[in-house]
Amino acid sequence: MPTSLPVLEDSFGRSVQYLRISVTDRCNLRCVYCMPEHGVPYESRDEILSVDEILRIVRLLVPHGLRKVRITGGEPLVRGSEVVDLVAALTATPGIADVGLTTNAVLLASMAEPLRRAGLRRINISLDTLQPERFAKIARFAKFEETQRGLDAAVAAEFAIKLNMVVMRGLNDDEVCELARLTIAHPFQVRFLEYMPIGQVRPWEWREKYVSNDDVLASLFSEFEIDPLEADSSSTSRLFRIRGAIGTLGVISPMSHKFCAGCNRLRLTANGALVPCLSDNFEYDLRAPLRSGATDSELIEHVRAALAKKPLQSDFEGRVERGGSYRIMAQIGG
Ligand code: SAM
Repeated sequence: MPTSLPVLEDSFGRSVQYLRISVTDRCNLRCVYCMPEHGVPYESRDEILSVDEILRIVRLLVPHGLRKVRITGGEPLVRGSEVVDLVAALTATPGIADVGLTTNAVLLASMAEPLRRAGLRRINISLDTLQPERFAKIARFAKFEETQRGLDAAVAAEFAIKLNMVVMRGLNDDEVCELARLTIAHPFQVRFLEYMPIGQVRPWEWREKYVSNDDVLASLFSEFEIDPLEADSSSTSRLFRIRGAIGTLGVISPMSHKFCAGCNRLRLTANGALVPCLSDNFEYDLRAPLRSGATDSELIEHVRAALAKKPLQSDFEGRVERGGSYRIMAQIGG
């Protein structure tokens, strides 16, 4: 579908084609890199955007160039059948070429088939370890078996699967090669994410746990014969393949190799705020105008106002030094 209205651009000429939609701030895990141990106060049900409100925003943005959406959270699957309805509506939206979902897979075993029938083809699953006891330590819930069953269901439903591992020193950095080894016999893309200082983490705590992907790659290259692959230009990951492997490796390095120049994304939080940059505290409330009868052209002006504040480059370290972020990752949408 051609873009029929002026594209949405930030002040640096980058156009927005990708919206990451958080459908809930709730999560059934408490991963150490994401959430405090005792969680955070959740938004009430009426503060969270309805499926129809989310769809209105998406349909509003499509004629301005939106092509790709990802459903995330919190844990998106805790919203149950509403997520399946949302997927069905998004995959049926003309102009949206790509719909993805990011999940911890704890609830995926029973939802993989319905999601597939709703038109979803791609799933990213967070998997930080292959050791059940370690999973309980990192996620603070002993739900490795559930996640494993969710992954199995995703394989059975023939999803294109990416596995996301946040690598942290002393927690799971010794498992990088084990996770990578999965790609030899499985058509997964195993992706290594650098730990970002988001939320109220203290700078020294973050630094103690942070592992640069340069170190991850060094471990991989010392263990396997690896070839680089070509990634598409808007991709945030560098891609590799273990020689002879069915799957691929992705390396996502927001800290050590910023990819802001090609950033084409915007985030929508579950309570209806636009977040132009993950590393910035600036957010723009879209829910108030949405709920007070704003017209489409008024809403687009609000989106443009939010985009105008998108910084040229992320500055996670600067922000953590200045006191951290107001929201944790689960409240933004990863
Ligand atoms: N609950 C879902 C899940 O676990 O995949 C979706 C939301 S989660 C916030 C999305 C992604 O953000 C996950 O892959 C998670 O590992 C990643 N993430 C969360 N906090 C992070 C951090 N501080 N640094 C790097 N990645 C983080």
